[in-house]
Amino acid sequence: MSSSTYETSTVGAGVQKTLVILLNFPTSKQVCTKSQVDSLMFSGSSSVNKYYQENSFGKVGFQGTVTEAMTIAAPAYCDLNSLSSSGDAVATQAGYDLNLFQKRVYVLPPNSLKCGWTGAAFTGGNKVFIDSSGCSNSMVYAHELGHSLGMNHASSAGGEYADHSDVMGDPSSTPHFNSVHKIAMGWIPSSRIANMSGMVGTIADYRVAHLEQDVNDLQAVKVPIVGTTDSYYLSYRRGLGFDSILSSGFLDSISVHRAGLGTRSYLVGTVKAGEVWIDPTGAFKVQLLSRDTTYGNVHIEVSTPDVTAPSVPLNLQASVKTVTSGKGRRAVTTTVIHLSWSSSNDDRGVQKYLIERNGILYTVVPGAAFDDSYLLQGMSYTYRIQAVDYSGNISDYSLPVTVGP
Ligand SMILES: [Zn+2]
Repeated sequence: MSSSTYETSTVGAGVQKTLVILLNFPTSKQVCTKSQVDSLMFSGSSSVNKYYQENSFGKVGFQGTVTEAMTIAAPAYCDLNSLSSSGDAVATQAGYDLNLFQKRVYVLPPNSLKCGWTGAAFTGGNKVFIDSSGCSNSMVYAHELGHSLGMNHASSAGGEYADHSDVMGDPSSTPHFNSVHKIAMGWIPSSRIANMSGMVGTIADYRVAHLEQDVNDLQAVKVPIVGTTDSYYLSYRRGLGFDSILSSGFLDSISVHRAGLGTRSYLVGTVKAGEVWIDPTGAFKVQLLSRDTTYGNVHIEVSTPDVTAPSVPLNLQASVKTVTSGKGRRAVTTTVIHLSWSSSNDDRGVQKYLIERNGILYTVVPGAAFDDSYLLQGMSYTYRIQAVDYSGNISDYSLPVTVGP
């Protein structure tokens, strides 16, 4: 869990002097050489250092030293504190002055501890642990060092790691960080963010420069979400530099993220040229009007929050019918109560209907019909319906209908 707060972080500033400690256990040996890891972290053409330098527009880098592999006793199951203190002890014994380094990276023999992770770090801490990442892919290093700088995971509706436009998701390689993280780290200063705070009821057009390079121009739009502490963050991705591995869904598109203070970032949408993205409440709309090699031209509408409930569902009717499923000898005939009603109206659209049966909420359906097949003989059933819009406003109950003996 993050203890740092987005948009106020200063921990990401400057060159991070880093000691990388290669470790053996008595029964398993390190597989990566000192020169492989030096190339991966510091000196290679796509090193972690170059990755962070490019992402931060020169504000953060990693310089330092990789030790020869040194042997420590294998700690009890995945005990990070014991692992780091044993690693520190052998490094000190070998002549390294730990006080000269802001970050320490402990590289284990792969899968030797069966911890279930490929890397681990304390958020905002100075220690990073690498288990099984191979000797040339810097993704796990970049991800764990991101935690140590204070960043949280890049999520989406698909899962905690499901924003593949950010190394804090699970992209398998190193695309750039998303706009939420670049802003949180202070790499995109407030002078390059259009903040639409207090602009409810506004239509605005912005020319947003791409996120990848140090363009001295607007690089993000922040839209506070009324009634929450979250905001939407818009950015334009072009797949330049390290971002060239960005998947096609994000290329030449506006990415829409949602985040609050100190929470994970959530990818909620992407918008290609000519497309429109509307948030579920209907209160925020973004269109990518046009784009070129440097800029995406966006049109944004921020409306007042929806406080109007849908109209009451009318004409609720119930009928008993039989439904046959399957064929031939496997056919099953079931008696159901078929409910139907007239769709409700709402200024921004009805999302779903709540069905009450015998006084309790029974189920939720997207459209204006439902077959109830969970019936007991001799029972009588009374139904009422309510409509719900995308902002959660709920209509009054429909008139009831009763079916029964
Ligand atoms: Zn992580």
